[in-house]
Amino acid sequence: STTHKIPRFEYVKNFEQPDVLLPNTWIVVRIDGRGFHKLSDHYGFVKPNDRRALDLMNAAAVEVMKELPDLCIAYGVSDEFSFVFHPNCQLFERRNGKLVTTIVSTFTAYYIYKWSEFFPETPLKPPYLPSFDGRAVIYPNAHILRDYMSWRQVDCHINNLYNTTFWHMVLKGGMGNTEAELELKGTVAADKNEILFKRFGVNYNNELEIYKKGTVLYRQYELEEPQATKALEDQQPEGKQSRSQQDKVRKLRRKAQVTVDHVDIIKDDFWERRPWILS
Ligand code: ATP
Ligand code: ATP
Ligand code: MG
Ligand code: MG
Ligand code: MG
Ligand code: MG
Ligand code: MG
Repeated sequence: STTHKIPRFEYVKNFEQPDVLLPNTWIVVRIDGRGFHKLSDHYGFVKPNDRRALDLMNAAAVEVMKELPDLCIAYGVSDEFSFVFHPNCQLFERRNGKLVTTIVSTFTAYYIYKWSEFFPETPLKPPYLPSFDGRAVIYPNAHILRDYMSWRQVDCHINNLYNTTFWHMVLKGGMGNTEAELELKGTVAADKNEILFKRFGVNYNNELEIYKKGTVLYRQYELEEPQATKALEDQQPEGKQSRSQQDKVRKLRRKAQVTVDHVDIIKDDFWERRPWILS
């Protein structure tokens, strides 16, 4: 910050608009790769699913989770990631712009830093440099937050079934892009499963879970540590939580391992087995 404050100019600060997000709500920051269709072509991503690119997205997201202990879960698919802040998060006084830009730039920094680890043969070169956009949306309760997560995972499934079928028709079936697109127009899931099975001997169920389900990141606490469960259970709604309680929870979150999983997050099972995620 500047030490010489010049009153004559300071009034310009008043032009800043407040952008504090509603208290006590779940904050989801979703980021998405800009122009990744073109970028993926340029760097030769395998179609429809380049495993290296997904692993790089996940590696960058894990670092974001580690740097921001207020995050309780994240879900990623393709070139997007959704990061979820707990309702009692007070980071940057819940200012929208601060939260979104910090997530986007931290994620982008790690994505670029780790690129060569996942693509050692294809160095990044301008003008094809990865960048991401981001937005924050608030959700009033855990039920609607779960519907949001379900929405992203359903999207993953629908897109992956379409893309898997499309690229089989093009790469293995020798069809043109337009031809394959036309045939797939108006088809339902069962039709696509049948095309895959009858023409290409592919059972969609046997595709990799990471492609079908996307990636969920959450913290794995050492649950044998009784103080971990206790501190998490003792959490009070935002405002009612003491500073020392907040610090304790943050410390625990920082220490916890970030788990990378490719599982169903639509059904209750995932959440019932891990009650601490939304607690
Ligand atoms: P915050 O996360 O709240 O922005 P901050 O530590 O980044 O905290 P700023 O008010 O943004 O605080 O100030 C940036 C600080 O970074 C400066 O006070 C200075 O200490 C340091 N800094 C930035 N650029 C330079 C530079 N070119 N040379 C030396 N120091 C620098
Ligand atoms: P926008 O800037 O509007 O987001 P976009 O080109 O990034 O445009 P998206 O709808 O975000 O469009 O789609 C991302 C595209 O990136 C996918 O359609 C796909 O072509 C490509 N892509 C992303 N991840 C992978 C991957 N792991 N393997 C192969 N292709 C990928
Ligand atoms: Mg500064
Ligand atoms: Mg600064
Ligand atoms: Mg976009
Ligand atoms: Mg994109
Ligand atoms: Mg996208």
